[in-house]
Amino acid sequence: MSESTSFHMTPDEFRTFGYAVIDWIADYQQRVESLPVMSQVQPGDIRAMLPAHPPAHGEAFADILADIDRVILPGVTHWQSPNFFAYFPANASGPAILGDLLSSGLGVQGMLWLTSPACTEVETHMLDWLVEMLALPEKFMSTSTGGGVIQDSASSATLTALLAARERATNFTVNRSGGTGKLVAYATSQTHSSLEKAMMIAGLGRQNLRLIDVDATFAMRPDALADQIARDRADGLTPIFVCATVGTTSSNAIDPLPAIGEICQRERLWLHVDAAMAGTAALCPEFRWIHAGLEHADSYCFNPHKWMFTNFDCDAFFVADRKALIDTLSILPEYLRNEATKTGAVIDYRDWQIPLGRRFRALKLWFVIRHYGVEGLQFHVRQHVQMAQQFAEWVRASDDFELAAPVPLNLVCFRHKGGDAINQQIMDRINRSGDLFFTHTRLDGKLTLRMSIGQTHTQMEHVQRAWTRIQEETRKLVQGQAARIQN
Ligand SMILES: *Cc1c(COP(=O)(O)O)cnc(C)c1O
Repeated sequence: MSESTSFHMTPDEFRTFGYAVIDWIADYQQRVESLPVMSQVQPGDIRAMLPAHPPAHGEAFADILADIDRVILPGVTHWQSPNFFAYFPANASGPAILGDLLSSGLGVQGMLWLTSPACTEVETHMLDWLVEMLALPEKFMSTSTGGGVIQDSASSATLTALLAARERATNFTVNRSGGTGKLVAYATSQTHSSLEKAMMIAGLGRQNLRLIDVDATFAMRPDALADQIARDRADGLTPIFVCATVGTTSSNAIDPLPAIGEICQRERLWLHVDAAMAGTAALCPEFRWIHAGLEHADSYCFNPHKWMFTNFDCDAFFVADRKALIDTLSILPEYLRNEATKTGAVIDYRDWQIPLGRRFRALKLWFVIRHYGVEGLQFHVRQHVQMAQQFAEWVRASDDFELAAPVPLNLVCFRHKGGDAINQQIMDRINRSGDLFFTHTRLDGKLTLRMSIGQTHTQMEHVQRAWTRIQEETRKLVQGQAARIQN
């Protein structure tokens, strides 16, 4: 086709614009620290800058790229700023971005082994590497009875595990003929909300999710779990699934897997362990205690896209018995039939997830692991944990602030002793200043501030400055209050 009959970008144009985009990203990495961390725009501001109608004629790439600065950047909350301490990390890194770009460049759809053998085999191999890197139970290896798969999110991993649990517990009858409304699952008030959503999507009903009491550290009480299971059985219900968390989103609480696992084994329940953020810590032998009892788990997930420097999306999901999962999700229409699938010698990851299609996400993971090496990843995780422990020390030593929960790893839950209002004000004023961004939760009914320390480029100086800003803003607020009382 001649140039005049195509609107496509030519490879030469792609080369030129592609270099410009890479330059833009590298510049962004250099200046992100100077940008206000939390976006300062009002609702509708960004949309108001977009034309009302789509362009009839194609535009110059330089104009498109310029709008990233003009239109997009003001509306970006900078998750990649070293001063980002909100929610949980969603780490990017150079090797992950480049791996992701190559995945886009190859543009393969990896639903079957046949549709790109490399997409499947690299993924299987990376997930086996992760088992070794985190010292996870052998049964999660593809060479054993189980295996791993990349899901888009921990939410999808939980849903997938719940579906497999549902089918295993019912001899695959819900898939065939629908549910009875009598299947029950267990978690705590601290479990991620994605489980409640999964109960809805899986047709089990949110009323059949039991929230088990937690102890003083916000971890599940195994005695309360056992009692509730007994009550449900007495009521003619069928317990099927327990979701235990290693590092809850709210406070990094760690459910006691050894005791929960024993109950699951005795009661024949599927145990899913959600370690979305904290799992990465197990790269370091000294933090592997968080996984004590994991040998009881039927499935496990953690998110390299949170704390392991791998761009969203990348959740590593492992099952102990891949047959239960595949038998739950496999559908084989005629147009997907092929010899490799028939022989059973290959993995078709479409059977391990909800959607059919899938990107070549293992590429960015492969790049990250090769760029950093296990040693490099361990180094940065250790640094993050050290910084969080230092921050916790400052809180402990302070007269005005207190810790609100144990600090096992890289999340510090703390509060000013003066009550909810002052904590809210401290947080709002600092976040509006753009100097850093941190968020809150509620523990024991009290507003609690959270410092989640795990951004790729966060160093001690950033954590130190955050603590200084928090104290500074507190002093101003307290002095302001005192002045108002005197007047
Ligand atoms: C962040 C988080 C999730 C949700 O992760 P997604 O990948 O966004 O679905 C689930 N569970 C825990 C414990 C988390 O920290």
